[in-house]
Amino acid sequence: MEEALAQELDSLRTRGLYRSPRLVREAQGPRVRIDGKDYLCFCSNNYLDLAAHPEVKDAASGAIMRYGWGSGASRLISGTMELHTALEKELADFKRAESAILFPSGYMANLGVISALVGPGDTVAVDKLDHASIIDGCRLSGARLRVYPHGNTGKLDKILRESSGSPRRLVVTDSIFSMDGDLAPLEEIARIARQRGAWLMVDEAHATGVLGAGGRGAAELLGVEEEIPISLGTLSKALGGSGGFVAGSSVLIDYLRNKARSFIYTTAPPPATCAAAIAAIRIVRRDAVLRESLISKSDRIRNGLAALGFDTMGSSYHIIPVLMGEASHAIEASDALFRKGILAPAIRPPTVPRGKSRIRITATAAHTDEDIECLLEAFRDVAKSSAALHQEVRANVPKK
Ligand SMILES: *Cc1c(COP(=O)(O)O)cnc(C)c1O
Repeated sequence: MEEALAQELDSLRTRGLYRSPRLVREAQGPRVRIDGKDYLCFCSNNYLDLAAHPEVKDAASGAIMRYGWGSGASRLISGTMELHTALEKELADFKRAESAILFPSGYMANLGVISALVGPGDTVAVDKLDHASIIDGCRLSGARLRVYPHGNTGKLDKILRESSGSPRRLVVTDSIFSMDGDLAPLEEIARIARQRGAWLMVDEAHATGVLGAGGRGAAELLGVEEEIPISLGTLSKALGGSGGFVAGSSVLIDYLRNKARSFIYTTAPPPATCAAAIAAIRIVRRDAVLRESLISKSDRIRNGLAALGFDTMGSSYHIIPVLMGEASHAIEASDALFRKGILAPAIRPPTVPRGKSRIRITATAAHTDEDIECLLEAFRDVAKSSAALHQEVRANVPKK
């Protein structure tokens, strides 16, 4: 077995696709400690710097002292504790929904919800750039998976017309796309889904806590919250903790509690994670300045990168892809940034398509103006060396 596995790993290495984690010491924040050195972290989803926020830490440690660490069982056996239901109520309130259900992670939420809502004989339509957890949920469901080109609502409409014989049809889209940072045309998607009698789920993983005046997500920003019957989010990005959730009607949530296998057949999350999430949601609800600051910092970074000649791929909020092309170029750039004290890993296939490898920059509300200057300075060097690289390549092309 090891021989076959090692061979595959070698093949990843030669293609520049091998990955290994960097070990971060001490808490998550705009600066992280790696191998005894401080780095500016421009790749975390800890957008509002809540992962180590004093109120969040206090809530978690207080909950551990009162409720202990573990929850002892799955939710439907004896694992549902006060804090689980308190969090679900807080989430429903926050999202202005009738009800909400908590999952151990956003990944598990997608697996559970999609496979509970559709099955063999049904059709599920997804955007080409939807998150891997959505695709895995679709595969698990056994429903017919139809993929439409990124943001192409005409093609979505066609898929829904063609699948009118399916008993259930479900459309699933990211709201802000995790690797490209652009928004799905939610209004148009909602209109098409309604018109064709399909169900609609929007995954607000990267938008929860960040977008919209109340931080409720892209649907709020675009004024279409009422049009989204199934709204999924995570507690693991802007909210700085871990967990996933779905907000919607009481009937939907009751159904999921009875049918979503990744809710039923797993141990309830530790109650302290719920206390931390409640504290984080309360910060988001009262502190609009935090997300405004995140967005204005993101704009400064994007504009700075564009001025240096980088392609930020039509992103418009806090996720800023910087296109490098080949995986090897993205790795070179990421290594160069690392040498300059910037942590921003290369994103490569299979996470993104071939030829679209990139550095993915994410700001946090806690980055200072100086941090942003440092980042842009480091990219200035990347721009120079890659220009030099291209010249070299050109010089080597034989003249006719
Ligand atoms: C990160 C992400 C998830 C998974 O959420 P976790 O809580 O990290 O498991 C799901 N969907 C999208 C779009 C994401 O970006």
